[in-house]
Amino acid sequence: MEENYFYKKWIKWNGLEFSPLNHISVTDTQSEWETLREEVSRCRACLYGTKRLHPVFGEGDSRASLVFVGEGPGREEDESGRPFVGRAGRLLRQVLEETGTDPSQIYIANIVKCRPFNNENPREEAVKACLPYLERQLNLLTPRIIVALGKVPGTILSGEKEIKITREHGRITRHGEFPLLLTFHPSFLIRPNGASFIPSFKEDIRKALDFIR
Ligand code: SF4
Repeated sequence: MEENYFYKKWIKWNGLEFSPLNHISVTDTQSEWETLREEVSRCRACLYGTKRLHPVFGEGDSRASLVFVGEGPGREEDESGRPFVGRAGRLLRQVLEETGTDPSQIYIANIVKCRPFNNENPREEAVKACLPYLERQLNLLTPRIIVALGKVPGTILSGEKEIKITREHGRITRHGEFPLLLTFHPSFLIRPNGASFIPSFKEDIRKALDFIR
């Protein structure tokens, strides 16, 4: 498994692009997913692991071309073990439906897999400990585009500083080989001062959909 991870990052599974890894079978990929899920379920590599109810691994189609990355689980996610099931998640899912996003094309994950204390921004040591899991998921998924939900994932995945989402949402930058679209976190959009940005959020999602068509 570790061996697979440290092979090349940007393998394309559709067979259209030559890769020295194209001998890896679907079974290998499934086994890598299972191993990764198992590792996360046992992980206590940072403090958040000591208090979580459930790690939130991520969910969606393992061949998704569009991957959403949020910050970390909230209370409802911690309780259920599923990403984006709280109020903000319901808004995200509603917008995805309204924009005609095919659920079979998406995968949803977070920067950290266990709930940050008091919903704080994930601490640096937690991000460092947890990010390799997300990287491994991305390597398996090989999405056509990643959508960073909010400033925290936008900053971490782009490596840029001082991102201001209200000004820069809709901009496409990169996370390694993957295009990365910056947009709002739905938890901002459910606040009174965020509601007016919902149409912009929908536009951003449409932009991501255009990108994968
Ligand atoms: S947040 Fe990530 S690194 Fe920290 S305990 Fe949970 S799975 Fe492990």
